[in-house]
Amino acid sequence: MTVLLRVEGLVKHFPIRQHLFGRETAVVHAVDGVSFEIDSGQTMALVGESGCGKSTVGRLVLRLLEASAGKVFFDGEDLTALAPAQLRAKRRELQMIFQDPYSSLNPRMTVEQTLVEPLALHGLASGRQRERAAELLDLVGLAPQYLQRYPHEFSGGQRQRIGIARALAVEPRLIVCDEPVSALDVSIQAQVVNLLQDLQRRLGLAYLFIAHDLAVVKHIASHVAVMYLGQIVEYADKDSLFAAPRHPYTQALLSAIPLTEPGLRRERILLQGDVPNPIDPPSGCRFRTRCRYAKEQCGQQVPELVAVDGHSVACHFWQEIEPPAPVTQGVAVNDRLARLQSAFRAGNG
Ligand code: SF4
Repeated sequence: MTVLLRVEGLVKHFPIRQHLFGRETAVVHAVDGVSFEIDSGQTMALVGESGCGKSTVGRLVLRLLEASAGKVFFDGEDLTALAPAQLRAKRRELQMIFQDPYSSLNPRMTVEQTLVEPLALHGLASGRQRERAAELLDLVGLAPQYLQRYPHEFSGGQRQRIGIARALAVEPRLIVCDEPVSALDVSIQAQVVNLLQDLQRRLGLAYLFIAHDLAVVKHIASHVAVMYLGQIVEYADKDSLFAAPRHPYTQALLSAIPLTEPGLRRERILLQGDVPNPIDPPSGCRFRTRCRYAKEQCGQQVPELVAVDGHSVACHFWQEIEPPAPVTQGVAVNDRLARLQSAFRAGNG
């Protein structure tokens, strides 16, 4: 397995000014020292509550936003050091799929125009671009007769398939998927996730999968990084993270995943208070204002992300914190999750 993407100490601060050219009055600490790696052909999920900075990380990786500090290496090359022309050429290898396929497709362009545009931009499939557009539609499970239709003529799931086909047009090696199924109905979510997995197997793609739905993440990811207020608090392979979450925040997030089997129950860990303002994050551990294990040291010292047996956690007291209680008999069934998992199984069958 080779490392395809390596992110080192990524930082993004947004200055707040009184007016466009006014003095800086505050800074939003959107991303603060994020590091991770993705191997070729693997999926790393970036999860956390809304506003934790995960989508900003996705945009920084593609340089749709410029980082305040840090580096992004793609196949060993430092993307943050590339000149605009070099970056444009490199973008062929890194693409993005957006949450809302409707807003990411031009309503005035037919599907054919939508798919041919990136081919023309990168000088690909010259002389056979219409044929290539039909192949791309086939790749995402849509018939070639849709080529002359417009985005409004499709369902949400079909539009997301077109968005995926457009991303695939330039034969990327890594795709940043920014909440790609969160706007879709549950059964359609499973179809799109199964399609992404199928494409990964066939084309050897790597995904940075940004999501807040841990049920979807559990299905698609090989590794998971949990973000809180601009920082990664836990990072591990999926099985290890779901079986034994070590950070109190991860434990709370996982405890909120509904159980699907009848008669099962587990403790729900409720987080206290709201997410603090990223303009003025808490001193020391940023999670301390909501952590049930917080002690004096947590407000004085920033916990480092420490790796133990390939499982990294940023908490001063992770060794003392009890793992979550095992699932026990009780009564808790979640219809939404049961439908999602059954749709996943049907799609894989
Ligand atoms: Fe909680 Fe302290 Fe660990 Fe932060 S460092 S997660 S506040 S116990």
